[in-house]
This record gives sequence, structure tokens and C-alpha cells, in this order.
Amino acid sequence: MFRSLLVANRGEIACRIFRTARRMGLRCIAVYSEADAHALHVELADEAYPIGPPPASASYLRIDRIIEAARQAGAEAIHPGYGFLAENAEFAEACEQAGIVFVGPPASAIRAMGSKAAAKAVMAKAGVPLVPGYHDDVQDDARLAAEADRIGYPVLIKASAGGGGRGMHIVERAADFADALAAARRVAKAAFGDDRVLLERYLRRPRHIEVQVLGDAHGTILDLHTRDCSVQRRYQKVVEEAPAPDLSDTVRAGLAKAAVDSARAVGYRNAGTVEFIAEGDAFYFMEMNTRLQVEHPVTELITGLDLVEWQLRIASGEALPFSESPPASGHAVEVRLCAEDPTLDWRPAVGRLDRFLLPEEASGVRIDTGVREGDTITPFYDSMIAKVIAHGEDRAAALRRLSAALAAIRIDGIATNLDLLRRIVGHPSFRAGDLSTGFIAAHADDLLAAPRPLPDRALIAASAALLLDEQDRAEHFARTSADPHSPWNRRDGWRLHGAASAETELIQDGAVRRVRAEYGDGFWRLRFRSSTDEPVALALRAGRGLDHDALLLDVDGVRTRATVRRYGDDIVVTLSGPEPTTATLTVRHQIGAAATAIASSGSVVAPIPGRIVKVMVEPGQPVARGETLVILEAMKTELRIAAPADGTVTRVTAQAGDLVAEGTELVFVEAESAA
Ligand code: ADP
Ligand code: ADP
Ligand code: MG
Repeated sequence: MFRSLLVANRGEIACRIFRTARRMGLRCIAVYSEADAHALHVELADEAYPIGPPPASASYLRIDRIIEAARQAGAEAIHPGYGFLAENAEFAEACEQAGIVFVGPPASAIRAMGSKAAAKAVMAKAGVPLVPGYHDDVQDDARLAAEADRIGYPVLIKASAGGGGRGMHIVERAADFADALAAARRVAKAAFGDDRVLLERYLRRPRHIEVQVLGDAHGTILDLHTRDCSVQRRYQKVVEEAPAPDLSDTVRAGLAKAAVDSARAVGYRNAGTVEFIAEGDAFYFMEMNTRLQVEHPVTELITGLDLVEWQLRIASGEALPFSESPPASGHAVEVRLCAEDPTLDWRPAVGRLDRFLLPEEASGVRIDTGVREGDTITPFYDSMIAKVIAHGEDRAAALRRLSAALAAIRIDGIATNLDLLRRIVGHPSFRAGDLSTGFIAAHADDLLAAPRPLPDRALIAASAALLLDEQDRAEHFARTSADPHSPWNRRDGWRLHGAASAETELIQDGAVRRVRAEYGDGFWRLRFRSSTDEPVALALRAGRGLDHDALLLDVDGVRTRATVRRYGDDIVVTLSGPEPTTATLTVRHQIGAAATAIASSGSVVAPIPGRIVKVMVEPGQPVARGETLVILEAMKTELRIAAPADGTVTRVTAQAGDLVAEGTELVFVEAESAA
């Protein structure tokens, strides 16, 4: 085994490869463009080399610079990741010429599969089924049009050199063929520098099913089961799962054999994927991707293999230790979290990730990401920022885990497809396994429609956040006010007493919403007009969770949670629930600050019923304002109960484990000024 590895890539895949390389004790070498100087993959590496300006053509696609960096670093091997140079035969050769191991297939196999048309010719010879179509070298207009007629409409024109879903044109009728052909050639020439095309019958409701293969240098080629990647947008995958659900044993065996035959036909070695398009029990070879694929984690989760580890071991000459495919266990589903706005025709989003909170891996999901909170998503590379992958004993269990994980993700700052992913995973048709490449289009009404105006909950949460902020301010004012007789300085316990009121105008979806709040008897009475213009009056109690942005709300006795974050006048509210929603409200006007009466000493009480998790103070202990006195658990959230003022704890009533009613005294604090 070599001892050092350069990863000629960035983002989540570079990070993911380093994770395995580090576990195997290899020295990790990164390369980076000027846009990635502070990127996570650079931080994770032992060494990192700059390779040029942000555009990929000036950095991550520069074979010369990458080889030079490898020389400088003394890298013994290069892993290309996916995208960029991963399927570039010249790069594989350049590595070889420089005496560096290329972690991938032989250049000859990359070349054989590089052109979809040439690959099909090889596959036809190997007896692998192809979609009815035309992939010959004769490319004149008349011949292509005649072939389209023979295949039958609708016909799909693909760029032979294509990839990433680009350069595909569906033609519904013969009359449109000539124009579509001209357009397809233009795109192919511009994107791939090669205007050759091939034709396929366009299947209306196919599934995308692929087979992971792994081959060593000693003649073993194995299939590692199927994946279904049917849920796509713009011919690009959004959700992937393994194994592909609902296939008969015959079809499964047929796919495995066709995949292994395909790989064998080109002398394949290392990890690769053979992609098929399937309709009913029929399946056809589409292309082979001669590299590690984005969706490889689902295969890892069902087989227990680390594919990157096997890529490295195979590249260093090791033989696969098994002669049959290792068994698959359970089911795994992956979603691609992308910085893009599905409701604006999938427009990629750039900007700063102000907030990027992912569930912990302990929650039973795997998360592969290349970014962290505070990073900026630049326009230079792919929009994918993370993959969330869940495994379960069956598909339903994996989906339950995935739903829970997606519900826990918090992102602010840029648009993402998170809401779409949540809706797909929760969609009854998806749950039922009704998969086809037309899934998103067929369910666009459910998946892409603007969130329903449940926003009254958002309005209430935003109001609660403003009232709590106001309470903090009043408290601060009371503490710093020099005038002991000021009405702000009442000393009747830190609970709110007496009447106080506030009025606020918030703008939501362009409409101005006026909210009046009055305090009395332990709760706020909120009045506003509902989204359907009905007058609403309700009783609100609110408290903050341990995480300052988490709010616990009690609205007329119904308890819910919300996450509320302020950016100047914008309040971003995320509501929990089976389908978490995010709304942004803007504070237009705050009329008459809330006269919340706060005193310096007194009982600190439980704001809502709960269980005491921990008591942090003892009688006689001095405390500073804001210091945690007690941790209370309510609604599965820990609440931090803080000291209202600087002072001394004179009494501790709370005991860990106690269940307390709302209003129960927990601690008594004698404030400094009162002492
Ligand atoms: P897969 O079948 O593995 O999903 P894709 O066609 O989606 O393959 O491409 C794999 C990934 O490679 C893309 O998601 C993208 O991140 C990356 N990629 C492909 N081409 C480029 C490119 N020209 N520049 C940057 N990244 C690219
Ligand atoms: P790429 O190189 O861009 O990945 P593929 O040939 O793998 O191109 O096709 C990408 C996607 O386009 C497929 O996953 C499928 O959704 C769709 N597609 C490809 N061929 C056909 C076809 N003959 N009929 C219908 N859809 C197709
Ligand atoms: Mg493909």
C-alpha cells in the first residue's frame, strides 16, 4: 500500500476520501483553487497545494498543475473523486507517466466508455441489451432523421460525449427533428467540444437503475447490488437508494450479469457503475461511469464495505478477498442537499451559509458534507453541499430515519432544496416505491408548491420572540437604571406582573400584519387578524430553549416548538412538524415597547411544566445575571433557567428529577442591589 494520497477534487467527496485515507494511515494531500483557500477539504488534509484561480478550467481541470503538486508533495497516488478529471483518460495516463498510481480504472477502459456511442458498440458485441436506438458514426442529417423514423417517436437525442444530464433533447415528432438536432449539436459542441450525437427511443416512465461493480487487477469482477436513482431533476439524480426496490430475482440477476459483462468487456478494474434504464421487466444499458459515484454511500451502507478503501487497495494491487458478491443487508436512501431553488427552475444559489446545523451522526444517519457554517457557496462549482444517507432494516425504516434527520436540519442564508427533499421523502407515492424519472414532474404540485399559508403559527412565533427580546431589554434596563423608584424597577419577583402591552407590525409575504400583545395573569394575550382575515385572540406563553434560537410555545394550551433567528429586522421562523416550514417576517414598526415589569430579586420559577434535569447552584452561592441556575426539560427540550440579576442564591427548592408545575419556585435569588 502506498503511504500518501493526493485527492484531485474538492467539496464533500474530497473530505469523504480523506476520511478513509486517514483511517488507513495515509498522508492526505489536498489541492485547492483560490476560491477554496479556506475550504473544509483543505483543513482536513495534512498538506494542501494551490493550483490556480477559481474556474475549474484554471485549477481542478489543470492536469499539469495537479501533477506538479503531486510531485512537490511526493504523493504516491492520486484519487480523482468524481466530476472534474475522474473520467479523463489523459489524466490517468499523465499520472502513470509521472510514476503516480491513479486510483481508478485503466485509461483504456475510461476511453472505451468515454463515448456513449462507442460504449454501446462494445456492449452490443458483449450481448448487453441496449435501448432501441442508433449510435453509429455516420452523422449526416438525412441518416439521423431516417434512423429516428425507424426507432419511432418520441426520440431522445444525446451528445455522445455527454454527461451530467447536459445535451439531451426529447423530440416528440418528426417535424421537429431537424431543429432539435441542430440545437443538440450546438450544445454538444459547446459543452464537450464534440458534436456527435446518438439517438434512443425516449421511454416515458422509466426507472434509472444502476449496478455498482468492483474489479481487481487479478481478474475478479463483482457486482455490489443495484441502486435506484430515478428521482431526478434535469436528468440529474436527487434521491438514490440501494437496493433498487421491487425487482424480481430474475431482473436482479439479469442486471448483475449485464453489469459484470459490461465491465469485463472493457477490461475494467476498480470501482465503477453501469447505468441502465428500465421499464417493466425490461432493462437497457445506458452508459458506464468509470469512477466512484456520488451515490456510492448507499451501497456502502447495505454491504458494510468502504468503497474508497477498496479503491485504494485495488489500486495498490491487492486482490478482492471474495469471489462472490458480498450479501446486502437492509435498505439505504441518500438525498442530495443542493444550494438551489427548486421553485425558481432549480436556480443555483450562492452566498454565505449563515447557519448550517446538521443532525448528529448518532441519530443513525450518515452525512457527507464539504462545507460548514459560515462558508460561502461560490458560483464556480457544483451546487451540492451535503448528502444525507440513512440505513434501516427495510425501506420504511430507512425513510423514517431520513425524515427525522431532514427535519432536524437548519439552514439560513441561502436557498436550498431542503424543503423539496423533505416533501419527496414524505410523499405517499415515494413511500409506496412508485419510482420513475418523471417523479418530480408528476408530483410537482405537491413537491414544488409554495408552502401553505399556515403562517399564523409563524406570526405567533415571531411575536413571541419579539416579546422575549423585549423582556430581556426591560430586565437589563431595570438592572442598570439608577432610579430605584422607576416603574421599571419593581421588586415583585422576576415573573412578569401587572399589565403591560406592546404592538408590532410585521410584514409577511408582502402583507402587513399587526399584532397586539397584552400581559396579564401569567400569559400574553395576542390579538391579530388571521391569514384569512378573521380576528384572533389567544393566550401565549413562551420560553427559550437551551439553544437560544429555540422557542417553546404554549398557545391556548397547545405546545409547539419553533426556531427563530433574527437578522436585523428579518425574523426567520422555522416551525417543527411533520413537514417543517420556514417563513421570513420583517419587523416594520414596533409601537410602544412592552412594559415588562422585572425586578431584581425574587423567586425564579418554572416557566412551563417540566422535569428538573440539573440544579447548578447551591444556597449561599453568588451568581451573575444570565448564569444558569437550573436546567429544566420540557417537550423533549432542555431549557436553561437563568439568574435574573447579579446576586446571591438564598434558597434552592428544585431537586434533580422533580416534576414541577408551571410557576413552581425553583430558586430564590437575592439581588445585589437589594441585598
Ligand atoms: P453521478 O452519476 O455520480 O451522480 P453526475 O453526473 O451527477 O454523476 O456527476 C457527478 C458529480 O460530479 C456532480 O454532481 C458534480 O458534483 C460533479 N461534476 C461533474 N462535472 C463537473 C464539472 N465539470 N465541474 C465540477 N463538478 C462536476
Ligand atoms: P448522463 O451522462 O448525463 O448521466 P445518461 O445517458 O446516463 O446521461 O442519462 C441521464 C438520465 O437521462 C437518465 O438517468 C434518465 O433519467 C434519462 N434518460 C436517459 N436515456 C433515456 C431514455 N432513452 N428514455 C428516457 N429517459 C432517458
Ligand atoms: Mg448517467
